[in-house]
Amino acid sequence: MSDAIAVIGSVAFDTLETPHGRADDELGGSALHFAVAASFFAPVHLVAPVGEDFPAAARTYLAGRGIDLAGLETRPGTTFRWHGRYHEDMNRRDTLHLDLGVFAGFVPTVAAAVRAARYVFLGNIDPALQRRVLEQFTAPVLVGLDTMNHWIAEARPALEAILPRIDLLVINDQEAAELSGEANVTRAARRILGLGARAVLVKRGEYGAILFSPDSVFAVPAFPLEQVFDPTGAGDTFAGGLLGYLAASGDRSERTLRRAIVYGSVLASFVVEDFGGRRMRGLARAEIERRYRQFVALTEF
Ligand code: AMP
Repeated sequence: MSDAIAVIGSVAFDTLETPHGRADDELGGSALHFAVAASFFAPVHLVAPVGEDFPAAARTYLAGRGIDLAGLETRPGTTFRWHGRYHEDMNRRDTLHLDLGVFAGFVPTVAAAVRAARYVFLGNIDPALQRRVLEQFTAPVLVGLDTMNHWIAEARPALEAILPRIDLLVINDQEAAELSGEANVTRAARRILGLGARAVLVKRGEYGAILFSPDSVFAVPAFPLEQVFDPTGAGDTFAGGLLGYLAASGDRSERTLRRAIVYGSVLASFVVEDFGGRRMRGLARAEIERRYRQFVALTEF
C-alpha cells in the first residue's frame, strides 16, 4: 500500500492565452495540477479553498481520480482566478489578472485524517501559510515546496525560515537566481542548499530540470515535443508526478528519486500538449509508461 500525499495550494479557474489560442475558465491551480498528476501513482489529499461557484462536475472529476476532497473547503465567495498570457517564447509569461477570491484570509486547518500523510507538498502560496500548514502534519517523511518570484521578493524572511524543513525545493531557474542572487544555476543551487533545503530541483522549461543535493547532481532533458501548446501547470504536474512516484515506491534512495524525476518530466510533457489540464483527463497509465520508456531510450548512451 503506497503512502498518501497531501497537497496544499490553489484551485483555480484560469484564463490562458498562448501563441496558439485562448481558453477561458479552465480548471487549474497549483494544487489541482499537482493532485491530478500525483493521483496516477498514489492516494492524494487535496487541501484548498474553493468558492460557491466551484462546479459539481469538477468535484466528480477529481473524486473519480481517487483524490480525497475532504480538505477542499467551500467558502463564501468566488474561486481563485488567474489570467496569464505567454510570450512567443513560452518560457515567459505575464500575469494579466489575479483574483484571490476565497483565498483572501484563508487559513487552512488540516483535517485529522490528512495530518498523518507522510508526503506533503506545499504549493505556491504565502510562505507564512505554508509553515502553518506544515506544522499540522504529525510525521511527514518528505516535504516538497514550490514558490515564486512574488514571495521571494515580498516574503523572503518567512521563505528562508521554512527552507531548513524542506526536503525538496522545486523552483524554476529564474526563481533560483532571485532566491540566491546567483545567475549561474549550479552556484544558485549550492547557495540554496546552504540555506537548508535538503535538495533543490531547478526546472528549466523546455531545457529540462536539474536536481542538486549536497553530494550529487542529476540532469534530465524535457521530452522533445514538436509543439508545446500551453505550459500552464507544467511545474506542478512535474512535482506531482515526482512525489506521486516516490510515495508509491515507498523508497527515497537516489536511484528511485532519479526515476521519480523522469516520471515528473513525462507527466509534464503531457500536460503541455493542450490547454490547462485537458490532456490529463483521458491520459492512461499505459501512455505514461510508453513515454517513460521512450525517455529512457532518449537519454541512454
Ligand atoms: P505553473 O504553470 O506550474 O506555474 O502553475 C500555474 C497554476 O498556478 C495556474 O493554474 C494558476 O491558477 C496558479 N497560480 C498562478 N499564480 C498563482 C498565485 N499567485 N498563487 C497561487 N496559484 C497561482
